[in-house]
Amino acid sequence: MRIDNTFGIEAQCRELITYDSEEALRKALARIHKLYADLPLLHIGLGSNLLFLGDYEGIVLKSDIKGIRLKDETESEVLVEVGAGEVCDDFIAEAIHRGWYGMENLSLIPGQIGAAAVQNIGAYGVEACDVIDEVKGISLKDGAEHIWKRNECKYGYRQSIFKEELWGKYAITRVTFRLSKRFEPKLQYGGLVKATQLAGFAESTLTAEQLRQIIIDIRRAKLPDPKEQGNAGSFFKNPVVSKEKAEQLLSEHPAMPHYPAENGKVKLAAGWLIEQAGWKGKSLGPAAVHDRQALVLVNKGGATGKDIQRLCQAVKNDVKEQFGIALEPEVNFI
Ligand SMILES: Cc1cc2nc3c(=O)[nH]c(=O)nc-3n(C[C@H](O)[C@H](O)[C@H](O)COP(=O)(O)OP(=O)(O)OC[C@H]3O[C@@H](n4cnc5c(N)ncnc54)[C@H](O)[C@@H]3O)c2cc1C
Repeated sequence: MRIDNTFGIEAQCRELITYDSEEALRKALARIHKLYADLPLLHIGLGSNLLFLGDYEGIVLKSDIKGIRLKDETESEVLVEVGAGEVCDDFIAEAIHRGWYGMENLSLIPGQIGAAAVQNIGAYGVEACDVIDEVKGISLKDGAEHIWKRNECKYGYRQSIFKEELWGKYAITRVTFRLSKRFEPKLQYGGLVKATQLAGFAESTLTAEQLRQIIIDIRRAKLPDPKEQGNAGSFFKNPVVSKEKAEQLLSEHPAMPHYPAENGKVKLAAGWLIEQAGWKGKSLGPAAVHDRQALVLVNKGGATGKDIQRLCQAVKNDVKEQFGIALEPEVNFI
C-alpha cells in the first residue's frame, strides 16, 4: 500500500491501518501482534515531516481520531482536548472562531494534532509546547493508556520525549491545550510587526483572524506548496551554538543572522548558512534546494528518498567545511 507523504516520494508498506477510536486502535494492535508479530510498526500523521528512503517493510498506523472537547474553563482560560487525527490548522481556525487564543502563529503548518505534540511544531516565536497541557497515548505494545503532563514531555526546540526515548512506542491519541480567552498578539518574530503595518492594521486593534491571515499570506509567499513541489518544510534545524562560536563566526561574517537561545547560547539561521554555501536554488539530480527558501529541500519530480538524502549530505558537507557547523535534519528519515 502507498504511504502518502508531502515529499511526493513513492513508498509502499505491507499494510496501512487507519483507526478512529482508542478501541479500534487496541483491536488493530491485537490483530497486528497476532498476524505480523515480527514486522516493524510505524505511526504516521499526514506525512509532512517524513523522508522515506525506500519502501517500509512493515505496518503503518494512522490516526483518524477526531473531536474537540471543552474539558474545563475559567474566566481567562479553556482546557480543550483534541483528537490526534484532527488537522492541526483546522483546529487553529476553529479555536480562533470560538475565541480561544494562543496558536495563531502556528497557522498553516501542515499535519495532524498528534504529530504537533510529537514534533513540538513551532513558528514565529510560538511552539506547540507553549499551549499543550497534557498528551494522551496508547502503548503500541500492550494497548495501555498513558498521560504525560507537559513538563513530562521533555519539550525543546523541535524535540520531545516522543521523538526520543518513546519514539515508536506509543500512538498519541488526544492532546489537551490550555488556551487563553484573551487575544494577545505575539509579533516579535519573523517580521510580523512590519507585515502587520504593511497589511494596514494597527497592533493595538489587530484581531486573531487578521494575524492568522497575515501569517498564512507570508507562508504562502515564502514556502513551496507540497501539492505543486514535494517538500517537508524546513529540512534542517536552525543550529544552536556556543556564544564563543557565534562570536568567531560574526567576526568573519558580520551580517550573519543570530538570535539569543537558551542558556546563553546563540541560534543561527540554517537557511542563511546554506545560502552562503552556495546551495540556494541549486539541484543535485531530481532534488533541489528551494530558490526562495534555502532551508527547504524539494523534489523536482521523480526523486527518491535517497536522492533527497544525497542532496542533504552534500549541503551538510559544504556548511561544515565553510562554517564548522554540523547541520541536523529536522525531517524524520524512515
Ligand atoms: C510546507 C511545510 C511547511 C512546514 N512548516 C513547519 C513549521 O513552520 N514549523 C514546524 O514545526 N514544522 C513545519 N513543517 C513540518 C510538519 O508540518 C510538522 O512536523 C508536522 O507536525 C508533521 O505532521 P504530520 O501529521 O504530517 O506528521 P508526520 O510527518 O506523518 O509524522 C511526524 C512524526 O510524528 C510521528 N507521529 C505522527 N502522528 C503520530 C501519532 N498520532 N502518534 C505517535 N506518533 C505520531 C511520526 O512517527 C513521525 O515521527 C512543515 C512541513 C511542510 C510540508
